[in-house]
Amino acid sequence: MTTKLKVTVWGENVHEQKIPAVRAIYPLGMHECIASALRQDETLNVRTATLQEPQHGLSHEVLEDTDVLTWWGHCAHSQVEDAVVDRVHKRVLEGMGLLVLHSAHYSKIFKRLMGTTCSLTWREAGEKERLWVCNPGHPIVRGLGPYFEIPHEEMYGEPFAIPEPEETLLISWFEGGEVFRSGCCYRRGNGKIFYFRPGHETYPTYHQREVQTILRNAVHWLAPQGRWIDSCPNIPSDKAPEKITSSAAHHSSPGQADKS
Ligand code: ZN
Repeated sequence: MTTKLKVTVWGENVHEQKIPAVRAIYPLGMHECIASALRQDETLNVRTATLQEPQHGLSHEVLEDTDVLTWWGHCAHSQVEDAVVDRVHKRVLEGMGLLVLHSAHYSKIFKRLMGTTCSLTWREAGEKERLWVCNPGHPIVRGLGPYFEIPHEEMYGEPFAIPEPEETLLISWFEGGEVFRSGCCYRRGNGKIFYFRPGHETYPTYHQREVQTILRNAVHWLAPQGRWIDSCPNIPSDKAPEKITSSAAHHSSPGQADKS
């Protein structure tokens, strides 16, 4: 019996309620569009959570029951409670996967995991975006051609103030000439992280076939490989896997050993 991968789709859900043009594209909210794209894969068990729910829908119980969390936010990053960010951060280090979408480059959780500002350049001019696939063999880009295009998107440009990714899977070119690292793989602790650039709220990007393919592929790549509990247990000499016979074993601390 195979158990389904448990995915929680988190949405800020503010633009959808305030801007009619966004609501017209995403009548149930962007998170529901992302969730329905993931639900096309029957091996995924998908739920949603939003900023407006108690604890933003990310209680201890929900996160314990989440294998992969997806995160879209833009105008309300500062409203995300630090206690929730702490909890998500802990779960990523333990092994939960995190899919960071578009303007979530500036979310508290992504900036904390990266340790940098995650700033970038941008322009909202509805220009064409062409995303080039850097490694056709990687599971996240399975099913795509050498590149695909989004007819209208917001431009994000370099410099993108992130640590050098473990692997860059997508590079965007925009009609105005800028380029950007649009698919970035990381590991923090035991958890995997994938940053995926497209998804500005005023364009129907999450309805596009290639984008939905990447969302599904990414969630599978982000699946936990195990669980790493945050602790530093002391291993007494008599519990070491091998018997210790050297004289250093008689010192009780590394500090004392240094002075001998
Ligand atoms: Zn945007």
